[in-house]
This record gives sequence, structure tokens and C-alpha cells, in this order.
Amino acid sequence: MNRLGIDIGGTKIEGVILQENGSVIKRERIPTESHKGYQHILRQISKLYSNLTENTDPPSTVGICTPGAISYKTNRLKNSNTACLIGQPIKEDVEAIAGQPVAMDNDANCFTQAETSLGAAKGYDLVFGVIMGTGVGGGICFHGKVHKGHQYIAGEWGHSLLHPGGNLCYCGKHGCVETYISGPALEKRYYELTGESKPLKEIAKNPPAEWEVEFLENFGIALSNVVNILDPDIIVLGGGVSNINFLYEEGSNSVRRYCFNDTLDTPIVKNKLGDSAGVFGAAYLNL
Ligand SMILES: [Zn+2]
Repeated sequence: MNRLGIDIGGTKIEGVILQENGSVIKRERIPTESHKGYQHILRQISKLYSNLTENTDPPSTVGICTPGAISYKTNRLKNSNTACLIGQPIKEDVEAIAGQPVAMDNDANCFTQAETSLGAAKGYDLVFGVIMGTGVGGGICFHGKVHKGHQYIAGEWGHSLLHPGGNLCYCGKHGCVETYISGPALEKRYYELTGESKPLKEIAKNPPAEWEVEFLENFGIALSNVVNILDPDIIVLGGGVSNINFLYEEGSNSVRRYCFNDTLDTPIVKNKLGDSAGVFGAAYLNL
């Protein structure tokens, strides 16, 4: 029983075909070339699908990971940095290519699925997956499956309110978590404090105390709200910001301070699959 996953990114489309035990049979990348439009992207997916399935048993499951939020009413993308995908019937069109039903989910849910099925959260029952990168997102896996929620927004902690009347968010509200602890938000804050522009990677090597304290405080409050409601068995961090090592010890202490509990037994761990989470998660999505 092979599994096939496709991760549609802004610059590349990645595909993988896996054996039932998760070992890779074939893995390939192809440029998205999104400037050529939606039909071209479909032709690229079709090419990739043929390459992956050539000389192997046909996949019993096919999943796609899409950038951006999916509308629960239409199953189409609502927003995406690959603009030509918005509003298109991607799921149906990939089903036509694959000749079978296809599961589709956003990158945060695919990340959580991948880490649950094959990565750092393997063996845990209730998993909260966190993406802290350009944006802040999250996903929930329960009994090995993504929990989408009634309105398909389960796990979207990045747009919870952190500071009323705070930073303006692209979503139209003020004070969202994302506007404080995403990569760009942290770089902007560093600039405000020091008058210097530096990439996050550089800032993290020698962070100014005020910047670090604020970051840990925001991280702790935001994640403790998730823990109070969901109380997951494990939290896995992903995205560029997850490379900051102090999040795992000091960050965890900060979450504990704001939790409705005298201790925090919940492991907060780094992802294992890195950039591969999208494509592996897609392969493990359930219909
Ligand atoms: Zn927001």
C-alpha cells in the first residue's frame, strides 16, 4: 500500500511516494512557475504524478499540501501567497489527474500530520503542531488524524488576540499572536529596539535582553492559552523561528508560568522533518 504526497509551494512542487512503513520509494521536485498561471501548475503536478507513479504500484492514498487557508464551505483556497491558486478547484483537478479521491490540507495541518506519523510526535495521541515562520499557524492531530474543527480553523492560534489594540495584522485585526512572534515580527521588533536590521538567525546568536524577555513572555502567554484549552500530550515546533534554542527551555518555563497548573509536563520539542513535513504530511492525510 503506497502513499503519495504532493506539496504545492510558491517556487517548487514536491512529490513523494512512500511505502506503508514510510520509507521513500521516490521523491521529486519540479518548479511551480506560478507566473504561468493555474493551468500550468496543474500540468506540472500531472508531470510530477506520472514520474512518481512510473514503475511502482499505484498509490492507495493521495494527499496534497497547499499554501494558505482552505474555505470549509467551498474546499478552495481563501488566501495564499501563490495568488493564482486562490478560488481554484485544486482538489477536484488533482483528483482528475490521480483518478481517485484526494485529501487536501494546509501546511500547518500537514506539518502536524507528518510529525505525528513519522517525526517528533510519533506515538503521542494528542499533538499540537506549531509553525512559527513568516506567519504563525498550528494544527491538531488526535488519534493520528488531523482535527480540522467545525469551521476548519482548529489550531489557528496565530490569530488569537495577544495584545488588545496592538500591532495591525494582515487578517484585519489588531494584536494577533502572529504580529509578535513570527519571524518578520521579531526582526521588526529588533529594529525598533536597536535601529539595526538583522536576520533572525543573527539576532538569535546574541539577543538583546529586552527583545528576548518580550519574546519569551509573548510566546509563553500565547502557548499557555492553547495548553489550557487543548492540554496536548506534546507540542512540536516548526518553521524558521523553531531554530531558536532558548524556546525549548526558557520558552517552556514561560508557558508554565501562564498555565492553569502548578507544573508543565507537556514536552515542547523541535520538529524532526524540517522542510519535508509538507510533503510527508500530505502523504499521510486521511480522506
Ligand atoms: Zn491576525
